Amino acid sequence: AKECGRNTFALYKKEMQAVSDARLEMEKALHHATEFKLFELYYQPQINDQNELIGAEALIRWKDDKKGFISPAEFIPVAEEIGLIVEIGDWVLNEALSQVAVWLKEGKWQVSWRISINVSPIQFQQAGFLPMLKAQLQKHDVPACCVDLEITENMLLNDLASSLEKMNAIKSLGVYLSIDDFGTGYSSLKYLKLLPIDRLKIDQSFVRDLLTDKSDEAIVHAVIAMAKALNIEVLAEGVETLSHYDRLREINCFCYQGYYFGHPLPPDKFVAAFVHD
Ligand code: C2E
Ligand code: CA
Ligand code: CA
Ligand code: CA
Repeated sequence: AKECGRNTFALYKKEMQAVSDARLEMEKALHHATEFKLFELYYQPQINDQNELIGAEALIRWKDDKKGFISPAEFIPVAEEIGLIVEIGDWVLNEALSQVAVWLKEGKWQVSWRISINVSPIQFQQAGFLPMLKAQLQKHDVPACCVDLEITENMLLNDLASSLEKMNAIKSLGVYLSIDDFGTGYSSLKYLKLLPIDRLKIDQSFVRDLLTDKSDEAIVHAVIAMAKALNIEVLAEGVETLSHYDRLREINCFCYQGYYFGHPLPPDKFVAAFVHD
């Protein structure tokens, strides 16, 4: 039994070692990718009930030489832990705005469309976030009304007073604010009333089971009614099929994003597929 225990421990140690080696390797590769800007942005269309484009979400892509594409769901949390997310987030904002500036010049972007940019809580909480945002808007000469920042609900609760102040400052620039993954966090109705939110993005987990799960349908329906009363727009994420789209329309959800309309694409492909003149 003693032998067996020792072997099990040896195996455990080996596995743990492999996990931490992989982690260290990812951290090293992330430092490298951040330093040399080895990321790209893909764009996923956002659509209204008239089937018109109303904007796009910018989604980061990282292609590692050895491993190919690594999901942001995997590397963003690591970047947050090791503090690289601030630099990466600044790069994302700069890249997205420079792309929109080019599209505006080429007549491929309408001023009524919004570019949705994901902002990590850690980035948002930096003292330098607001000055950085202002500077980027000026540098690229992109109208603030073309920009929508996606933040998650949990981050707001850490320090409500300072979040509120920052959000108000962002609003006074004319930039839009959305709550991402709505329904998965802890925000209460009180915060929705208090905070200057323009849009809720209903998390795809609710949308996915909309047709089969009565309670998910009830939740989505209730969120839409509540948002309407508070004058907040609702966008459904993860709309994958015509049946989901139909059901969402029936329950008065008029903005959508998901594979049914289009996958995230590199800039040139996005324009070719979704921008018509
Ligand atoms: P998210 O912000 O909730 O983004 C939506 C994710 O759902 C994207 O995954 C998108 O490709 C995927 N998606 C879109 N439509 C559908 C659909 O119909 N069905 C399904 N199953 N999935 C769909 P992606 O690009 O892999 O990004 C994953 C997460 O990584 C994002 O979730 C976001 O939390 C984070 N992320 C991505 N880009 C950035 C970024 O530039 N900055 C930060 N801070 N986080 C980012
Ligand atoms: Ca998002
Ligand atoms: Ca989301
Ligand atoms: Ca998410």
